[in-house]
Amino acid sequence: MKNLVVLSGAGVSAESGIKTFRDSDGLWENYPVEEVASIEGWYRNSALMLQFYNERRRQIAQAEPNLAHKKIAALESCFNTTVVTQNIDNLHERAGSKNIIHLHGEVTKVRPENCRADEEGVIDIGYRDINIGDCDKNGVQLRPHIVWFGEEVPMMSAAIQAVEQADILLVIGSSLAVYPAAGLVHYTRKDCKIFLIDPKPIHIAGLNFTQIQEVASVGMEKFIEILRKNENF
Ligand code: NAD
Repeated sequence: MKNLVVLSGAGVSAESGIKTFRDSDGLWENYPVEEVASIEGWYRNSALMLQFYNERRRQIAQAEPNLAHKKIAALESCFNTTVVTQNIDNLHERAGSKNIIHLHGEVTKVRPENCRADEEGVIDIGYRDINIGDCDKNGVQLRPHIVWFGEEVPMMSAAIQAVEQADILLVIGSSLAVYPAAGLVHYTRKDCKIFLIDPKPIHIAGLNFTQIQEVASVGMEKFIEILRKNENF
């Protein structure tokens, strides 16, 4: 089986009713990004951060995987598939994808604030709220298991390894504006075929790719049609 890597961003979940943030002038669900997605924001106002991620958890509990998530999961029967997602939601899992790398963490998980993202201590809380005063067994405040601006991205090396081995790379619903995730496309082999699904035209200097300029669900149908017609895949 060929190796397929799907690099997904907020746009893949847009049809599930979850907003992207580049489309809303740098606001994430009406909050300035630096207030709710940076490590400085956590030190400035942890209560606001906790409330923001409590809201995201409730929103994701109500959302359903859309056709794009489902079609990506279905590709696992034909390809050795790795989903590298920048999303913190769990819609790829709920659609049935098995091999997922969450580059920016998972909203349904928390960890003590003194513990790094790649250390032990991560707790699966499902859709529960976390507030100031909610601590681990050692009395350390719990924080969302999210990679914020200003923090390391420990899953990058696993993602790079997957992309280096890809025969096909599909980028879907990502503005490719958030680094280091955006740089992943440059780790592909020369013979890797790169496709990009996004309703807006995307330009990447020095990269040869085919853009399918559609929303995620329609784009996935067209992508699968291309795969079907090409006997090399
Ligand atoms: P982004 O907001 O920067 O870019 C989203 C891209 O999706 C844009 O290029 C936009 O044109 C495209 N898009 C919009 N609607 C679409 C649709 N229906 N189908 C396909 N594409 C569509 O998102 P990003 O590149 O993922 O980077 C933003 C960061 O914000 C990520 O790190 C992510 O962790 C975080 N975020 C996550 C979620 C989530 O978990 N669902 C939601 C918002 C933001």
